[in-house]
Amino acid sequence: MSVTEIVLQGEPTVTVQMRRSAAARRMSLRVSSLDGRVSLTVPKRGSEREALAFLHSKEMWLRKHLARQAPMINVDHGVEVPIGGQMYEVVQATKRGVHIEDRQLRVGGAANAGAKVQAYLKAQARLILHREADQFSQKLGKPYGKLTLRDTRSRWGSCSSSGNLNFSWRLIMAPPKVLSYVAAHEVAHLAQMNHSDRFWGVCRDLFGAYEEERTWLRVHGASLHQYRFKD
Ligand SMILES: [Zn+2]
Repeated sequence: MSVTEIVLQGEPTVTVQMRRSAAARRMSLRVSSLDGRVSLTVPKRGSEREALAFLHSKEMWLRKHLARQAPMINVDHGVEVPIGGQMYEVVQATKRGVHIEDRQLRVGGAANAGAKVQAYLKAQARLILHREADQFSQKLGKPYGKLTLRDTRSRWGSCSSSGNLNFSWRLIMAPPKVLSYVAAHEVAHLAQMNHSDRFWGVCRDLFGAYEEERTWLRVHGASLHQYRFKD
């Protein structure tokens, strides 16, 4: 599948990723609810002129749709970021490194606050996800392989057939029980590589009732992708 970028001029400019797909029967336009990415799928033999005409006919709809989505937040001094579901203001500190004090996230030095905050969040995420995964995998009696942090926009975690666990480090921004649920969910896949009733049974045995956490992710999950940490 080949991808071409189309830029719609206007306020704001909109970047559309056009994909040609052998499987597609007709053109379709999609806006990702996670990160606002716009993709236009075109049948393999469709002409570029037709694709552009289709895109322009949908432009009003597209712009309205995008405007409703939350704007990006560039993390810097003075900006609030969630950690464990609580908001912390990023402030400049004289002390080196990043630490939490008085509901503030104090970041040493004037430059690259966003990158420093991101490194801090990833380190915290690694620590806590390891702790949670260890706990659930002990409870289940099945060890996992490697634990890898990613910044996937489409999923919060995954478990490979070889037993490796992957998580979005952005989970550290969510309430602790939400992160814990995702860890339990992926560990449960070590026993059941599917989403059968048996899988959900294992999930419940490990974590308890998980409905609230699943709902939180569905309702608020996209907001964790609003934060941008580097310029
Ligand atoms: Zn799953």
